[in-house]
Amino acid sequence: MPAVVPSSPPERDDATTEQLVRVGAWTVMLAGTTIAALLLLDRPLSWTQVLLNLGAGAMGGLAVFLGHLQRWRQAALVLIWGVWAMVSVVAANNGGLRGPNLLNFPVLIVFSGWILGARPTLLLTGATGGLFLFFVWADLYDWLPPARYSNRLAYVAYLGAILAVTAAATLLSRRSYLRRVQEARLTATNLAAVDAELRKLQRAVEQSPESIVITDLEGRIEYVNAAFLSRTGYARDEALGQLSAQISSNGLAPAQRQGLCDTLARGDNWAGEQVNRRKDGAEITEAVVVAPIRQTDGRVSHYVELKQDITERKRAADEIHRLAHFDGLTSLPNRSTLMERLHVLRGRAGRPPSTQHALLLLDLDRFTTFNDARGSEMGDRLLCAVALRLSEILPPQDLLVRVAGDEFAVVLHGLGVDASLAGRHALAFAEKLQAALLRPLRLEGDAQDAQLGASVGITLYPQTSDDGAHDALRRAGTALHRAKQAGGGRAAFFEQGMGEAAEQRFRVERELRHAIGAGELRLHLQSQVDVSGQVTGAEVLVRWQHPRDGLVAPGVFIPVAEESDLIVSLGEWVLAHACALLAQPVFRERRLRLSVNLSARQFRQAGFVGQLRAVLAATGADPRLLTLEVTEGLVIDDFDDAVAKMRSLAALGVDMSLDDFGTGYSSLAYLKRLPIQEIKIDRSFVHEAPTNADDGVLVEGILSVARHFGLRVVAEGVETQAQADFLRQRAPDIVYQGYLFGRPEPDAQWLARWAQPA
Ligand code: C2E
Ligand code: CA
Ligand code: CA
Repeated sequence: MPAVVPSSPPERDDATTEQLVRVGAWTVMLAGTTIAALLLLDRPLSWTQVLLNLGAGAMGGLAVFLGHLQRWRQAALVLIWGVWAMVSVVAANNGGLRGPNLLNFPVLIVFSGWILGARPTLLLTGATGGLFLFFVWADLYDWLPPARYSNRLAYVAYLGAILAVTAAATLLSRRSYLRRVQEARLTATNLAAVDAELRKLQRAVEQSPESIVITDLEGRIEYVNAAFLSRTGYARDEALGQLSAQISSNGLAPAQRQGLCDTLARGDNWAGEQVNRRKDGAEITEAVVVAPIRQTDGRVSHYVELKQDITERKRAADEIHRLAHFDGLTSLPNRSTLMERLHVLRGRAGRPPSTQHALLLLDLDRFTTFNDARGSEMGDRLLCAVALRLSEILPPQDLLVRVAGDEFAVVLHGLGVDASLAGRHALAFAEKLQAALLRPLRLEGDAQDAQLGASVGITLYPQTSDDGAHDALRRAGTALHRAKQAGGGRAAFFEQGMGEAAEQRFRVERELRHAIGAGELRLHLQSQVDVSGQVTGAEVLVRWQHPRDGLVAPGVFIPVAEESDLIVSLGEWVLAHACALLAQPVFRERRLRLSVNLSARQFRQAGFVGQLRAVLAATGADPRLLTLEVTEGLVIDDFDDAVAKMRSLAALGVDMSLDDFGTGYSSLAYLKRLPIQEIKIDRSFVHEAPTNADDGVLVEGILSVARHFGLRVVAEGVETQAQADFLRQRAPDIVYQGYLFGRPEPDAQWLARWAQPA
C-alpha cells in the first residue's frame, strides 16, 4: 500500500514491511500478555510490572488492529514508540542500568531501522541515548529500585520474544532480498531479449534497400533510413522535420494526393506510383506504400512510407513500349500503333458509327529506283525526310504512321457523318500530302535534292458497326494499288463511286474558288413575257466559262458552292454584275425588270441588306426594277429574322419572289405572312398542268391564292403553247418564263436586241 507507507526504505518492498510490522505486532502483543500473566506468579507480586507488560501487549494489539485496517505506518509508529515508552518505564522500574530490560532498546532500534527508515530511527536512538543518560545519573544516586530476577519463566519469554522478532525480521528481509535478486535477474534477461529484438528491427529498417520514411500525422518527417538518404541525396538533418510531400512526393497530381489523404484518413494503406525528385532535381519513379502506424490502443500515431525505386524498370518498360509502338528509323509510330488506333476509333461494337474517319495509305513512287541508284543509306535519309515533311502538315489530332518500307499511313479523325463530305476532306488532305512531297527534299550528304511523287489510297472508316482495322487497311491497300496502276502521283478511293463523286466535287470547289477571281463567271438572261408577248424583264442565271470544260451549267457548281462559303462570294459577284446590268438605261426606259437568285447562306449574312444598298448605290441601278428570288428553305430556319430582312429589302424598293413555289411544304401557310410580291410556279407543275389533273388543280389553287393576296405570278419552264394557254385561261395577268419564249442567253446578246429600235 504505497500511500500508507510512503517513506519505507528503498531496498525493501512494501509487502515485506507489512509482514515485519505484522510479526512484530503479534509478537509484542502475545509476549506482553504472556509476560504479564507469568509475572502474576511472582512473590512478591508487582502490579506495576504486570500492568506495564500488559500495556506493551496492548500496544502490540493496537498495532495488529491498525495493520488490520491497512494503516501500516500508524501501526509501525504505535508498535515502536508505544513499546519503547512501556519498555522504558519497565526498565526504570526494574533496575535501570542494572536490570535485564535494556536488551529491548537495541532490538527496537534495529526494528525501527527495518520498518521506519533512517530518520525516525535516529530520533528513536537519540531518545534511547537520553534515557540511558538518565539511568546512569539515577544509578549514581540509587534512585531506581533494584532489578528483580524472581520470575525466570517471564524472563525466558521476554528473551524468546526478542529472539522471535529479530529472527522473523532477518528471515523476512532475506526472503525479500532473494526474491528481488531473482526478479532482477529475470528482468535483465527479458530486457536483453527485447533489446536484441529492437536492435534487429532497427538494423532491418536502417539497412533496408528500400527507402523508409516515418512521419507524424501532419506528414512531417521523424525518421528516414540510409536508403532514403542515399537515394534522394539529402542529409538526415535536411530531411528531418520537413514535410515528406515537399521533400520528395512532388510527383502526385492534386487529385492523387487527395486520394492518398482520403485513404490514410480511412486508416487504410495507400499504394501507388510517384515521380519524385532527388535533391539535385533528378526524377526518380518510385512504387510507394504509405501505411498508418497504430499504437496498442488502435490510435494512429504515425505514417510509414516505403518507397521502391522503379525508375530503371519504368525506363525499360517505356523502351519496350517505344520499340513495340514506334519505328526505329523515322521515330514515327508504327503499324501496331495504327492498328490500335483504328481499333479504338471503331467505337463500341454494334453501335452505328457516330463519325467517319479516313485512313490514307501513302506510298512513294519510284522509291526502289532511288534506293538502287543512291544506296540504302540515302534511302533511309529520304524516308526520314519524308516522315518529317509529312508530319509538318499533319493536324495535331491526327496520326501519321510508317507502316513498312516506303509506305506511310495517315488517320484523319472525326470527319463527320456525311460520307461525301468526309471523302472530299480526305481527298483534299491526300493532295496536300502529295503536294508537300513534290517540294524538293534536301538530304544530308547529297548534293542533289530529292523529289518524289506519291500515290495515296483512301478509305473511310468505320463503314459498318463491325468494320475492323484489318478490313480498313486492306481497303486502303487496294485503293493504293489502283492509284499506282493508274500511273502514280494519284489518289484513289476504295469506294469507287464515292471516290469519283468526291473527286469531282472537290475539283469543282477548288476550281470554282479560282474561277470567281479569274473572271470565268458569266451572266445569262432568260426573258420573262406577259400574255401579250411583251417582254417584262429577265431572270439572271449564272454560267461558268470553264477554260477546259467549256460552259458549265449552274446545276453542276451551285450545289457544291452552297456547301461552303463559296456561294457567298459567288452570289456577291452575281448581284454586283446584275446591278451593273440593271443600271443600263434600257431597263429604266422600257421598265424592264431583272430577277436575281439569292441563296439562303448569302441572305443570312449579317450585313446583306447594307451590302445590297451599297451595290445599288455604286451601280446606280433602280431598286424598284430588281427582284430577289428566294426559296422557302430560307424562311423556315428563322422565320422572324427572314421576314425582318425582307421588310428592310422592301423598304429599299426591292421586290421579293418565292422561287420554285409548290415544291416546298406548307407554302400557302407562309404566303400570308411573308412580305413578298411575286411567286414562281415551279416548272414541274407547269409541265404537267394541262395533262395531269392533279397538277392542274394545284396550279389553279396557287393562282387563286396568289390573286387573293395580290401577288404577281411567274410560271417557270413554259415549253409548249398548251401550257401557256392553260395558264393564260386561268390567270390573264400571268408572266411566262420558258423555252417557248426564249432560252437563257448571254447578257450582252439579250441586251443587244433592245439596242435596235423597238
Ligand atoms: P431556277 O432559279 O429555277 O432557274 C430556272 C432554271 O430553269 C434555269 O436553269 C433555266 O435555264 C431553266 N429553264 C428555263 N426555262 C426552261 C424550260 O422551258 N424548260 C426547262 N426544262 N428548263 C428551263 P439553270 O440556268 O440551269 O439554273 C439552274 C438553277 O441554278 C436555278 O434554278 C437556280 O436555282 C440556280 N442558279 C442559277 N443562277 C444562279 C445564281 O446566280 N445564284 C444562285 N444562287 N443560284 C443560281
Ligand atoms: Ca430562279
Ligand atoms: Ca425556279
